Amino acid sequence: MFNPVIIGALVIQAIVRNISSIAGAIFGYIITTGILIWGLSVYAEGNIITFFSIPLSKQIFLYAVFAWYWLDTNELRGAIKENNKIVDERLPNEIECPQCGEKLELEEAERIERKFTCVECNSLIDLSLEKNEKSQSDKLDSEIDLHPTANGIMQ
Ligand SMILES: [Zn+2]
Repeated sequence: MFNPVIIGALVIQAIVRNISSIAGAIFGYIITTGILIWGLSVYAEGNIITFFSIPLSKQIFLYAVFAWYWLDTNELRGAIKENNKIVDERLPNEIECPQCGEKLELEEAERIERKFTCVECNSLIDLSLEKNEKSQSDKLDSEIDLHPTANGIMQ
């Protein structure tokens, strides 16, 4: 009898998560809180919650809710990390076409996808597979920048 509430909440959360992982994670907190309030009212009325026909004591229900909060937190942390990664790996606003050297202005979507079509030579440029190599070379650049004096002494 109580299963539809929990299952429904999980389905709604999965749908929201598909739209935005951060919104999905925040929505997870709201759902978990909703389940907590609903569950406490069920126990206050002297009823018991069953999940897949397993009766849950109030204590087990509370443990499950806290475990769920912990999962929500992990998910939110993961979503924020993923989101930062996307921002970091975006292509710059302006880029030179690797095929013809034309300076191009990129749309936000092209920067995130790391794919664009050159308006000058019509080449489809796909830099989506070069993410890791690029972040590695960025790292090397910043390591070199850290020791400008050392380089000066060498010369
Ligand atoms: Zn081009």
